[in-house]
Amino acid sequence: MSPVTISDPAAPGKPWKAVRTSSLSKRIANPIREIIAGIDLSAPPEKGVDKPLINLGLGDPSVFGNMPPAPETIEAIEASLKSGRALGYPESVGYPDAREAVANYFDEGPSGNWRVTKNDVVMTHGASGALEMAISVLADSKSNVLFPKPLFTAYETMSTIAGCEIRYYDLLPEQNWEVDLAHLESLIDENTAFCMLNNPSNPCGSNWSEAHIRDIAAIMARHQVVVVSDEVYAGLAWDVSGPTPAAATQPRVEGKFNRGVFTPYASVCGPAPVLVIGAISKRWLAPGFRVGWVIVHDPLGVMGEVRQGLSKWAFRIQGPNSTVQRALPGIFANTPESFYTSTMDELKRVSTALYERLQRIPGLKPILPQGAMYLICGYDLDFADDKAFVTALHSEERIFILPGACFRLDRYMRFVTTTPLPVLMDACDRLEAFCARHQRK
Ligand SMILES: *Cc1c(COP(=O)(O)O)cnc(C)c1O
Repeated sequence: MSPVTISDPAAPGKPWKAVRTSSLSKRIANPIREIIAGIDLSAPPEKGVDKPLINLGLGDPSVFGNMPPAPETIEAIEASLKSGRALGYPESVGYPDAREAVANYFDEGPSGNWRVTKNDVVMTHGASGALEMAISVLADSKSNVLFPKPLFTAYETMSTIAGCEIRYYDLLPEQNWEVDLAHLESLIDENTAFCMLNNPSNPCGSNWSEAHIRDIAAIMARHQVVVVSDEVYAGLAWDVSGPTPAAATQPRVEGKFNRGVFTPYASVCGPAPVLVIGAISKRWLAPGFRVGWVIVHDPLGVMGEVRQGLSKWAFRIQGPNSTVQRALPGIFANTPESFYTSTMDELKRVSTALYERLQRIPGLKPILPQGAMYLICGYDLDFADDKAFVTALHSEERIFILPGACFRLDRYMRFVTTTPLPVLMDACDRLEAFCARHQRK
């Protein structure tokens, strides 16, 4: 675009120079964008390819319209809007009633291990805002931080402000994506600011057992490493590796999360300090509402400075939008248990059918999901790397899917299981033909 010529009476003949940006903003990168840069989704199909595009790259449960939020969620937001109570500035850490609703939702009661009050909660701009806040408060350029691999690569983007060194600990696909504990432990040193956990996992669709989480917690306790636990999929899990934990055989707690199948880290790590990340984006199927939270778990009282840091960080942007914050107590109180269970039934149904279909395609190795909204599938085909694979799949079959490289893992692809099953099955038919043409020689 060429600049418009408007004469400037104050400085005739002196054109404006292009405005420069900060070095911080230049460092912000989107790893996914970089990997799929060569693919133009709006490009017309290749000659001879007469198929509509199937876009499986969108990790957003609202895009196909098949998984709407609960009517109670919408009603609570309408009521919030009409109440006139959401017009002013909330406290920068969030309205007290919103924080209390979050606290009550996660508090395990006098006989539980994880106690939460509203003073432990900071409201944020989605889980993304919570993650950026937690990372920025805990780490700086002298720190290293431990991230899983594969991972939700936004963690890397959110680490830009902190400028910390990122160290990746391996997750083991052959063990349902459990942590390689020895590898994790080998990465810790005196400059480790925190360890990020993500369970249930994006992109793995895995859900760790209570025993495995206790093993991780033991390492964290041994080295006194703070955990940031990204539990944006808390309660969105229907299966777990290993023996069924005792809690799973006890009655489900109405309105709570799927305790027993899903294990909240803070409920088994003892008194060790944790920041728990959450949001209404995924379990309530409304990522656009942009409300999340950080919960401080600190029975030993070693996080006083961190609490202050979170408050200060919150002060920068004065908290997330007031209307959804005010609706939060109603959303939690009124959403029936059947909403959560039917969401999970649907995710399980779709992921099982998809898994079974993919298993029948030579060259593919799907892994059965246990939770979250994803199925990850390995491939062994004649391509140099993931970039070549997704580019060919797009141009030959008009399927777009995020490759494992977008999650720092090569030779995998990630399906989103909130996609309607007929769309996925259609994609599988094309994938089958594609794989037949590209078997390893
Ligand atoms: C979607 C997602 C987030 C971000 O959630 P928002 O509330 O939409 O910001 C964070 N972590 C993981 C693992 C996710 O999949």
